[in-house]
Amino acid sequence: MDARLLEILVCPICKGPLDYLKSSQELVCKGDRLAFPIRDGIPVMLEEEARVMSAEDVDALR
Ligand SMILES: [Zn+2]
Repeated sequence: MDARLLEILVCPICKGPLDYLKSSQELVCKGDRLAFPIRDGIPVMLEEEARVMSAEDVDALR
């Protein structure tokens, strides 16, 4: 994904920074424990489309 695009993207809920998960093609907000999918290179920044992550999942990213 475009690094510049990643820099300007923030979580739509808390406006915090996102982590890019290359393996699963997701953008993760650790604060909200949500993983937003990237479909065909387009980040889908919708809460209803996001995957809810477990605390263990988020801890594994730290
Ligand atoms: Zn957030």
